[in-house]
Amino acid sequence: MTHEDPIADAVLDLVRSADPDAGAILAREAERQQHTLELIASENHVSPAVMHAMGTCLTNKYAEGYPGKRYYGGCAHHDEIETLARDRAKQLFGCAFANVQPHSGAQANGALFLALLSPGDTFASLELSDGGHLTHGLKVSMSGKWFNPVHYPLVRDAKSPAFETIDYDEAERVCMEAKPKLIMCGYSAYPRVIDFARFRAIADKCGALLHADIAHIAGLVATGEHPSPFPHCHVVTTTTHKTLRGPRGGLFLTNDEDLAKKFDRALFPGMQGGPLMHVILSKAVAFGEALKPEFKTYQQQVVKNAKALASALTEHGYRITSGGTDNHLMLVDLRTRDAELTGADAERWLEAAGIITNKNGVPQDPRPPVKTSGLRLGTPALTTRGFREGEMQQVAALIDRALAGKGDESAIAGVQRDVEAMCERFPLNAVVGAGA
Ligand SMILES: *Cc1c(COP(=O)(O)O)cnc(C)c1O
Repeated sequence: MTHEDPIADAVLDLVRSADPDAGAILAREAERQQHTLELIASENHVSPAVMHAMGTCLTNKYAEGYPGKRYYGGCAHHDEIETLARDRAKQLFGCAFANVQPHSGAQANGALFLALLSPGDTFASLELSDGGHLTHGLKVSMSGKWFNPVHYPLVRDAKSPAFETIDYDEAERVCMEAKPKLIMCGYSAYPRVIDFARFRAIADKCGALLHADIAHIAGLVATGEHPSPFPHCHVVTTTTHKTLRGPRGGLFLTNDEDLAKKFDRALFPGMQGGPLMHVILSKAVAFGEALKPEFKTYQQQVVKNAKALASALTEHGYRITSGGTDNHLMLVDLRTRDAELTGADAERWLEAAGIITNKNGVPQDPRPPVKTSGLRLGTPALTTRGFREGEMQQVAALIDRALAGKGDESAIAGVQRDVEAMCERFPLNAVVGAGA
């Protein structure tokens, strides 16, 4: 089952005996994770220490407020935990202020809007269909409903060497025209390096604050595999559970004391109530892991694996948008391999074969979001499992076999057997790069 994680086994036994219904579901999910290949770019497998730090007595406590300024008694150790998590976050990202309380990346972005904008204010972000996140101005999200988003695109000219990378000239034009209060950069499906210095020049020119949302690339940023948003960005938000490989949660970072105070007040009491102190302990443990040299080796391998997967898929006839990847993820345009193939079919057939992905629109995708022409693939989880470049070539071959069969059940069953064999060779317990 979960092999050499006796605590996970004990937790499962405990839940099963206390609540057989809930325990049976947990057992099925543990099996699913063990027996499938996880290629969703925003997911990862945490170490046992990060996992089990969450399952502690800290969940029993209310600690509203911040260290030294709590609204409840009995918070001495919670002050210690939050201070430890903050100090490690600051060290990891090389900045002066950190707020470790956001419950998620979306909550962090919500608090950022509350801190820096008033309803109706204009902000700039990437076109959502080009890889932006829903908290960056989707009509039905708070960001799009109560604020006024203007968007910059990717380069549309297929003959340009910069095709499908951020169109910085157009971003400047859009921002000079709309004069946003805030410019957002940092995305959910963008495979290339972000030029934070260029964005800062635009922000200074139009009088905006610059925000980087490094939810996807935080692990790469922490180890220098992607340039840091500091000193260029005024404010930074991230999740802690993607490449950073911590518990599910959010994080805010800045070098500006005044902006730090505004964010703190906007998050609590503006947005959230009591902090999830069990998750904050786990964040501290994850940041501790990320500060170790093994974590840099891990992030380097994540990038090498992404390049290996992208080039192997290219050899199989798939088009990788923008021509490749600099980070942990890629967008695969399926149409060059099979004009009829949709992201929705590909996601479904791959899942049947034990390969977990998500359909994703490619830039200027003519198909609707429920179908799409692409898949988003990422290597953080498989790299945690111990996969290297050679295995990524095998994964590309398995993906192509499953898709070439166009849903044929025996083809899928054959791939599924090979996926199973790979999962046996790389059990989940051996979290790579977590340190001893
Ligand atoms: C994942 C993501 C978020 C939101 O994170 P949640 O924890 O799911 O709320 C925010 N911004 C970007 C760019 C993301 O990719």
